[in-house]
Amino acid sequence: MSAFVIEKLCRGCQRCVRTCPNGAISMELSLAVVDSSKCLDCEECMEACTHRAIHFKRKKSKKKSPRIL
Ligand code: SF4
Ligand code: SF4
Repeated sequence: MSAFVIEKLCRGCQRCVRTCPNGAISMELSLAVVDSSKCLDCEECMEACTHRAIHFKRKKSKKKSPRIL
């Protein structure tokens, strides 16, 4: 799991860049980009982004088929 930016929502405010404790976010062409190799999954950038542009890739949970009793 690591943070990723939805480009069309990013406003380039750099709040996430200043918030990230591990320097995992940089700006490219006025958009935030996450280096997944540095991301600690702390979610601080997601909380800092007021434009809801940062989300997390989560593993899909395997849906269990309903048990028939
Ligand atoms: S805080 Fe959100 S809107 Fe601002 S640069 Fe980061 S991802 Fe983009
Ligand atoms: S989840 Fe944490 S370490 Fe990863 S990019 Fe966001 S603030 Fe940085």
